[in-house]
Amino acid sequence: MDLYEYQGKQFFASFGIPVSPGGVATTVDEAVALVEGLEFPVVIKAQVQVGGRGKAGGIKLANNLEEVRLHAGNILGMDIKGHTVRIVWIEKASDIAEEYYASFTLDRGAKKYLGMLSAEGGVEIEAVAAENPDAIARLHINPVEGLTDEACRAWVAAAKLNPIATDGVVEILQKLYRAYVEGDADLAEINPLILTPEGKVHALDAKVTLDANASFRHDWADYEATQVRDEREEAANAKGLQYVGLEGSVGIIANGAGLAMSTLDVVNQVGGSAANFLDIGGGANAEVMAGALEVINNDPRVKSIFINIFGGITRGDEVANGIVAALERVDIAAPIVIRLDGTNADEGRAILKTHESDRLISLPTMIAAAERAVALAGGKSK
Ligand code: GDP
Ligand code: MN
Repeated sequence: MDLYEYQGKQFFASFGIPVSPGGVATTVDEAVALVEGLEFPVVIKAQVQVGGRGKAGGIKLANNLEEVRLHAGNILGMDIKGHTVRIVWIEKASDIAEEYYASFTLDRGAKKYLGMLSAEGGVEIEAVAAENPDAIARLHINPVEGLTDEACRAWVAAAKLNPIATDGVVEILQKLYRAYVEGDADLAEINPLILTPEGKVHALDAKVTLDANASFRHDWADYEATQVRDEREEAANAKGLQYVGLEGSVGIIANGAGLAMSTLDVVNQVGGSAANFLDIGGGANAEVMAGALEVINNDPRVKSIFINIFGGITRGDEVANGIVAALERVDIAAPIVIRLDGTNADEGRAILKTHESDRLISLPTMIAAAERAVALAGGKSK
C-alpha cells in the first residue's frame, strides 16, 4: 500500500522523525484557511504517488496569501504523469543547505534489510545509482541483530555527509529503521533528507509503502481510505471473486488459489505472462464461471483466456456444463483454452468437445494448454 507524502509524513512523525508543520487542502479556500496557522513562506506540494513533482510544476513556494491562492489554484487539478492532483500538502518552507537521501527496504537475495544513504539527495536515486553508484553507501542489516548505533555511525561516515549533520542523521536513521520494521513498511524513503543552514536535519519528503498483509496489526483506516483501487479488482471483488490484476496478456481462471498460482507459473514457464490471478473457489457452476469470464472479458489486456480446472467435489461434467452455459451468457472477445482434469474429466471433455472451435480449445494437460494460450495471445513475451 503506497502512501501519499502527507501520510508518509504522519507515519514518520509518529516515530519521532522531524517533519515540517503543515496540513492538507483540497480547495483554494481550504489552502488559504490552512496557512493562517503557518508562518510564511510556505511550500505547496501536489499529492500524487509519483516522483519528479517539482520539475512538473507541482511544488511551489508562496510568500503571501495571494501566492497561496495562485499556486494552490494552479496545482489542484493539474496532471502529473497521468495522475490528477486532488490534494495539496502545505508546509512551512525550509531553508536548505544540503540534500541527502536515506531509505530502508528489503534485499530478498541477501535475506537482509538494506539501508541506503547518499550525500546526493534531492534527485531520483535511480539516477544516482546509474551515474555515480559510489555515492550511495549501502548497509545490509540482519533483522535479528537490528541496526546498532556503531554500525549506523560507520554507515553515516561511509556516506561522507557534512560532519555537522552526523548526529542528526544517525538519530533519524534509527527512527526511520524503527518506522520501517515496527511500522511494517516495505519501503521507507526520505528524499531529500535536508541539512538546514542552522545545522538541523529533517525530512522534506516521504515515500512509504506499507505491507498490507500487516494491516491487522495497525490502525491504517485513514491510509486505506485514500487508496486508488484497480477497477478490474473492484469489479471482481464485487462478484466475490479472488482476483488480482496483473500486466500480461493471458487471462487466467482457475479453481483454488494454489492451482491459480501454479497456472501463473506455467504460463510464465512457457514464455507468456498472465493478465491476472483469478481463483473462482471450489464450485465452478455457470453463475460463477460467467462472472469470472465477464471480469476477464472487460480487461483490454487479455488476448487469450486459460481456464484451468481440477474437478474435485465439483465434477468435471458439471464444470463443463457451467463453462458452456456461461459462454451462452457472455460474448467473449478472446479465444479460450481449457484444461479440465480430475473427477469425471472424461465426461467433461466429451461435453466440451461438442462445442470446440478455433475459439474454444480443450487440451488435457496444463503445459499443453498454457503453450496454446500463450501462442494465441501473440506468442512468447520474453
Ligand atoms: P519530488 O521531486 O516529487 O520527490 O518532491 P520533493 O518533496 O522531494 O521536492 C523536490 C524538491 O523541491 C526538493 O528536493 C527541494 O529542492 C525542493 N523543496 C521542497 N520543499 C522545499 C522547501 O521547503 N524549501 C525549499 N527551499 N525547497 C524545497
Ligand atoms: Mn522527493
